[in-house]
Order: sequence, then C-alpha cells, then structure tokens
Amino acid sequence: MLVLKFGGTSVGSPDRIKKLLNIIDLSKSQIVVLSAVSGTTNSLVEISKAFLENDKQKASEIIEDLYNFYNQFIKELFGTSVGLESANNLIEYHFGLISSFANELFTPIEEKVILAQGELISTTLYHLYLTEIGVSSKLLSALDFMKIDEDNEPVVEFITEHLQPLLDQHPNQILFITQGFICRNSFGEIDNLRRGGSDYTASLIGAAIKAEEVQIWTDIDGMHNNDPRIVNGTKPIAKLSFDEAAELAYFGAKILHPQSVFPAQKYKIPVRLLNTMDPKAEGTLISHESESGKIKSIAAKDGITAIKIQSSRMLLAYGFMRRIFEIFERYKTPIDMITTSEVAVSLTIDDTRHLEDILSELNSFGTVEVDNGQTIICVVGDFGADRHGYASMVFESLKHVPIRMISYGGSRYNISLLLNTTYKIEALRSLHSRLF
Ligand code: ADP
Ligand code: ASP
Ligand code: MG
Repeated sequence: MLVLKFGGTSVGSPDRIKKLLNIIDLSKSQIVVLSAVSGTTNSLVEISKAFLENDKQKASEIIEDLYNFYNQFIKELFGTSVGLESANNLIEYHFGLISSFANELFTPIEEKVILAQGELISTTLYHLYLTEIGVSSKLLSALDFMKIDEDNEPVVEFITEHLQPLLDQHPNQILFITQGFICRNSFGEIDNLRRGGSDYTASLIGAAIKAEEVQIWTDIDGMHNNDPRIVNGTKPIAKLSFDEAAELAYFGAKILHPQSVFPAQKYKIPVRLLNTMDPKAEGTLISHESESGKIKSIAAKDGITAIKIQSSRMLLAYGFMRRIFEIFERYKTPIDMITTSEVAVSLTIDDTRHLEDILSELNSFGTVEVDNGQTIICVVGDFGADRHGYASMVFESLKHVPIRMISYGGSRYNISLLLNTTYKIEALRSLHSRLF
C-alpha cells in the first residue's frame, strides 16, 4: 500500500484537484491524505480568534468570505447538477456548523472543531468529485483512527488497531481518502497535529500500516539545500537519510512538519518528497541510506528564546544539570540547544508558555538572563567519522555575524548556531554561497 499526501496548494483550486488523477495511479492500492485547500486553515484560525475575542461581527465577515470562496470553488469543480447539489449540501453543513459557534461559549475545544473543518471539507469534496466522474473511492474519517495521548504524542499502535480493520472491510478497494492534520485527543475531543500536520498524518499512517512508501506531494521539487523563500539559486537534494531529514524538518525546513520524519524512520518506511506541479521531477528520497562526507542543506528556526543560568554552585558539582532540566520537564517545555561552561549553562526553548514560572524557579540557582528573538541556524549533512573541515567552513562564512551559541558534535549530522533573528537572512545567504 502507498500513502500519498497532497498539501494545500496541491488541492488549492478546482483545476488542481482535477489533475490529481494524473498522479494517483489507480492500479495500486493507496491511501490519499489531503490537507485543507490552501488558505482555509489560516481563515479558520482567524475566525476562531475573532470568536475567542468575542468579535462576532468580524467572525461572520471572514466566514462569509470563505463561504463565497467555496461556493465558487464547487461551481468550477462539479460538472453535473447532482454533483453540485451534493457539494452544496456539504458546504451548507460545514458553514452552518462554523457559524453556530457564535451562539456558544467559545473555548479552545470549539476552536479545534473549527480548525478541523478545512480537511473535512477538502476530503469530502474530493470523494464527491471522484463519485461524479465514476472513480470509486472510500472516504475514511481520520477521527476514527488518528489519536494523540495526554502529552499530544500520536499513538501508532492505536492507529494500526483502528485503521487496519477499516481497510480490511474493503478488500477490493484501491483508493482510500482521509484527512491530514486532524485527530482525537485523550479525552476523545477533536484535536490536531499542529500547523502543517498533514505530513505527520501521512507518516503516521505509513508507519501504522507498514506502507511500501509515503509520498509527500507539494509545490516544490523536494527538499532544497536552503530555504528557497530567502535564498536564490537553491537546489533540490536527491537523497537524504532519515536523520538528516529529521534535523532539517525540526529546525525549520517548512516543507516537512517538524515531527513528521520520526514515525517513518522508526518503521523504516521510505518517504519521497515530490512536486504536484512537476510530477516528473525526481524530488527527494528520504531513507536509511546516507551519503557520508557531504553538507546537504541549511535550515532556520525562528521564535527561539535563549536562557542563561550562571552559578558558581555549578563548579565541580554533580546533579546540577539534572535539577535544571527537571524544571523544564515539569513544565513540559522541550529544550532545543544546550551549551555549557564551567559556571554557566545556556539553553534554548521555543515554547514560552511557561517561561515566567520556569524563570522564577531557575532564579534560585543563580543569575538568569533571557534573550528573545533568536534564530537557530542548522547546517545538516553527514560529516563522516572524522568531521574534518566542516566547522571551519561554517565559521568562516559567518565571521561578520555575532553568534550567541554553537552546538557541534551532538550528532554527526548537524552544526547548530544561535543568532539574533536580525542576522538570519544574511547568515543563510552567506552560508549558502560558501558551502554550496
Ligand atoms: P504544503 O502545503 O504542500 O504542505 P508547505 O507550504 O507546507 O506545502 O511546504 C512547501 C514549502 O516549503 C515550499 O513552497 C517552500 O517555500 C518551503 N520551504 C522552506 N524550506 C524549504 C526547503 N529547504 N526545501 C523546500 N521547500 C522549502
Ligand atoms: N491545513 C493544515 C495547515 O494549514 C495542515 C496542513 O496543511 O498540513 O496547517
Ligand atoms: Mg505543509
């Protein structure tokens, strides 16, 4: 079985939706995972924000714009009155539901229900479209099998146990369609895998059913060697190892959701990144194979906060780090980078929801300093066992940029640097011209 995920732009217009059948090979069993039509989730976020702020007028304006967009969309997608009527009923139902929140107490629980509507709409529209043109497909609700636990971690075993029987009920079905992004949480409520989460859904499904391959179809021909939105002349990378791809996704390469590589890696499912707009392009294959001795790509992650704890109690002491890390653990706040000296430790976080509480506990250890507005730049490759010369190339290209932290040697796959976000563009461009 194959798993094919199409992102927002790939289903972004009626024309694009019609062209998906040029990519989907109806001779192979597959699960097609769809994102919401591009722009939809952003609008749903805006609607929820307006409801949370109790600005019903603003919410109703955005709802109306989105409703008009879909009304036009289905007129172009469907060619028969029967097809159009079914699509029209669908749109009425979902927009009726979204509007109904104006009359309710609006909490983050309702917000997640609203955010789920984009993928519910896109997948049902596609199913209705295929029905109209006589192509058989089975629509599966991700809410029946996609699950996260109390720590927001997906539960692969649960997905296998609940998805496989659904597939087994239709042994002759070639094409299954389901929603990316959405899931249920440990309370059984509708939840999601965070923005960009459809990639994660595809990888989790791939892992859960031991798929032959996961294909992520997007609007670019694979993982590039730098962020194409910032740097000119970037190039696609033909092959990446799971470790390299995981580092890039985690440290900001937007083409992949930060956690999406791990399930595929754990269950050894190859992942291919492919371009819907240019299906013949080779793209990127992510697998266990690694090409040693090569720098592959550079990524950047913004919104980082650095915390420095300085304390003479650290000198020759044991257990100091553990006590510091325990504070972050208690507030379920992941640490990304760490560097130490004999009397100080600096670390970075991107989730600042509990920063105040964390700082007040850290204060009992010594002097604490906080720097906001930082960016992690991550140079990824397989530097091989001897790692000769890579660090010097990186530093040489950044000699005019102030670097706040450096992390090297944690694995043989990355060199991470922390700098003020104002230097990000300059750093990415200058690394690019030196390294590639
Ligand atoms: P989708 O909607 O298909 O999930 P995304 O917008 O999430 O697509 O991801 C694709 C985009 O990621 C590209 O259009 C590109 O601008 C951006 N991107 C950022 N870094 C990279 C990179 N290193 N390689 C390729 N694309 C990247
Ligand atoms: N629709 C969701 C988002 O925009 C999930 C995704 O596209 O992957 O974040
Ligand atoms: Mg995406």
